[in-house]
Amino acid sequence: MMEHPENSEAYKGLVVNAGVEQPSSVNPYLKRKPRRRQLTAGEFVEGILKGNVTLLSQAVTLVESVRPEHQALAQEVIEKCLPYTGKSVRVGISGVPGAGKSTSIDAFGLHVLQQYGGKLAVLAIDPSSERSKGSILGDKTRMEKLAVHPDSFIRPSPSAGSLGGVARKTRETIFLCEAAGFDKIFVETVGVGQSETAVHSMVDFFLLIQLSGTGDELQGIKRGIMEMADGIVINKADGDNLERARLAATQFRNALHLFPAPESGWTPQVLCYSGFYNLGIKEIWDMVYEYVRFVKANGYFDYRRNEQSKYWMYESINEHLRSSFYHHPEVESLLQLKEKQVLEGRISSFIAARDLLDTYFQALKE
Ligand code: GDP
Repeated sequence: MMEHPENSEAYKGLVVNAGVEQPSSVNPYLKRKPRRRQLTAGEFVEGILKGNVTLLSQAVTLVESVRPEHQALAQEVIEKCLPYTGKSVRVGISGVPGAGKSTSIDAFGLHVLQQYGGKLAVLAIDPSSERSKGSILGDKTRMEKLAVHPDSFIRPSPSAGSLGGVARKTRETIFLCEAAGFDKIFVETVGVGQSETAVHSMVDFFLLIQLSGTGDELQGIKRGIMEMADGIVINKADGDNLERARLAATQFRNALHLFPAPESGWTPQVLCYSGFYNLGIKEIWDMVYEYVRFVKANGYFDYRRNEQSKYWMYESINEHLRSSFYHHPEVESLLQLKEKQVLEGRISSFIAARDLLDTYFQALKE
């Protein structure tokens, strides 16, 4: 049998030839930037309190991050910022897609900055962001004039996680913006129901943008959403649409009478305007600031903020518990099996839930 050539003494499979010496850098003048050191919570807070928007943005990115070390740092920054928060007017702005939210927020923002001075932050809660993995609400390009205004800060919706998680991050961003000296906060959302409740739970005034349409304006709008509104504004009250907008306003006013009086003691108002032609904007913001004066005088302003803090305490607990449960390795491994058994009718949903919870609590004890 022939010996394999590689077994021969003379055979060398790998021969390393002496190479040419490489220069240490192709471009000796290029200096590699050292990796940026992560700032400390104290450094973030110092920058934020000085109104440094770059640091504010970076802190918001930490708030939005899912990495535990970012979350821990974010919480420390928020905690340190808390004494400097609370001094803004927070306004929720909601409307269905196409209602004119971006056009309106551009016009509203310019108006309030011109009329009242100060600084404006526009944040957003996009309930669809979980699916679309990216969000268009609060996008700078949609608000052309505000985007280039030196006193505005526009931040799109956080995109990862459940609606509750997204909303919590937006609420925490409000605090950071306030600490950075933003005394006017808009929180935009798309009008689909649940997200309004989330926005309502973090603002002082809830503004609902409506359109006049086919005549029966009230049909498509959920009762719960209308009850949340402190003001309803009918957009596109211009040109041929003016009469229809006025008619819609009357219908909304009549409908509001049917609801029980709001806790705030404030009667929600209905106004017509045109975001595009800049008509009726002043009246809307006169209304918002009149509301703020009214509820500050009767104590409801502080009461509502306290109630919101309470709501968020429970929300945080719920979120924590839920995440701890679903991410527990033993629960995770059992979940699919139980789900299958329920789907096949082999066990009831209650038994399945109990088994999973028992497993979870047992695992916690060990
Ligand atoms: P969003 O989806 O709620 O943000 O709505 P947009 O602001 O993008 O507006 C949707 C469309 O309505 C755009 O084509 C706007 O030009 C138009 N629009 C917005 N405001 C007005 C308005 O006051 N009057 C009229 N006629 N059109 C408007």
